[in-house]
Amino acid sequence: MLKAEATIPTTAGLAYVAAVCAKLAKSDLDAHAEAGRGRVALVDGLGTGTLEAAADRLHIRLESPTEQGLSVLKFLLSAQIEEAAAAEKPEVVWSGDGCDLTELPSLREMTVRRVAEVTPHVRRITLTGPDLSRFEGDSLHVRLLFPPDGVHPPEWPKPGKNGRPLWPAEERRPVQRVYTIRRIDVAAGEMDIDFVLHAAPGVASGWAAGARPGAVIGLMGPGGREVRPATHMLLAGDETAIPAMARILARLPQDTAGQVLIEVEDEREVQNLVHPAGITLLWLFRRGREPGRNDILADAVMAVSLPQHGDVFCWLGAEEAVARRIRSYWREEKGLDRARCLAVGYWKHALTMDEAG
Ligand SMILES: Cc1cc2nc3c(=O)[nH]c(=O)nc-3n(C[C@H](O)[C@H](O)[C@H](O)COP(=O)(O)OP(=O)(O)OC[C@H]3O[C@@H](n4cnc5c(N)ncnc54)[C@H](O)[C@@H]3O)c2cc1C
Repeated sequence: MLKAEATIPTTAGLAYVAAVCAKLAKSDLDAHAEAGRGRVALVDGLGTGTLEAAADRLHIRLESPTEQGLSVLKFLLSAQIEEAAAAEKPEVVWSGDGCDLTELPSLREMTVRRVAEVTPHVRRITLTGPDLSRFEGDSLHVRLLFPPDGVHPPEWPKPGKNGRPLWPAEERRPVQRVYTIRRIDVAAGEMDIDFVLHAAPGVASGWAAGARPGAVIGLMGPGGREVRPATHMLLAGDETAIPAMARILARLPQDTAGQVLIEVEDEREVQNLVHPAGITLLWLFRRGREPGRNDILADAVMAVSLPQHGDVFCWLGAEEAVARRIRSYWREEKGLDRARCLAVGYWKHALTMDEAG
């Protein structure tokens, strides 16, 4: 078991323990506090954090079976304590395992190995890098880091004493975007990312449109938990969510029933997705209507009749306003709770979603 700890001199430890645990519980973590003692547990036994408030200090102990779990705990707890104690501005300094690292365990420098056109608007970039085993598993998404033009060699974030990444100065700092690992082959040291080439190219899609073998980008992660398996699944999304839906579908038990609704420009954007026989796939075509500003996907989702009883899970990845609309439809009109539905904003008109969902 890997361990780390930090002691913060403060007289407000009691309030910080309560605030940190309440905030983490809201983000679906198992976290609770009582009488100045708090406990935070990562999912799947990936580690726990124990917080203990005394009159003049707050002591935090972390335990995890993996380096990744320990670094997630350090990151989460430093961030939450710095937020809860914003007025006091305490410095959280960890000691113990992983505290003498010179590279972030979550960061890899990746090189473009191959480029292929999947459809007219989707470019598959195969990236290669060292030791990709941490990127295999249930967390599907990564943060790609694009160095600004003219910064050679690229500068990547380094581990800070508080467990959070220390980023290069603004003008040398890489731009971040969230993408899904479409395929990973740890033995071959490679992964595919499918980039949608949207009409107003940004840093990521512009980079993908011109990427050639040998180009270098950074990668951090993985993150995001997408679905809870259920006997009936509804998956819906636009082209940015095809990689996530493809990976979710490929892992479902063969007896899963349900529907998949995918909005793309036209027939040329249809991809071949592996799925259980009891799941039907419906491709919805925009044919010139604006992505994220039409009702095609939302109308199709709202026309689905879900089973009245039984184990249902509904998932959507699409433009932020579409995701908001469907989230409130599922929660308020269909009465599905957080455990039975998830609608995630994958991109936003004129802005970037840079949070891994
Ligand atoms: C969890 C998660 C997983 C994701 N996985 C993928 C993936 O595997 N493949 C993928 O292609 N995308 C994926 N996305 C979406 C991707 O991160 C965004 O589309 C991102 O904005 C692209 O960055 P950019 O630099 O190209 O454009 P930005 O600089 O962010 O935006 C430039 C302009 O383009 C517009 N724009 C951005 N995205 C789109 C779009 N899809 N369609 C139309 N206009 C758009 C913006 O509104 C803005 O006006 C994912 C997002 C999340 C949150």
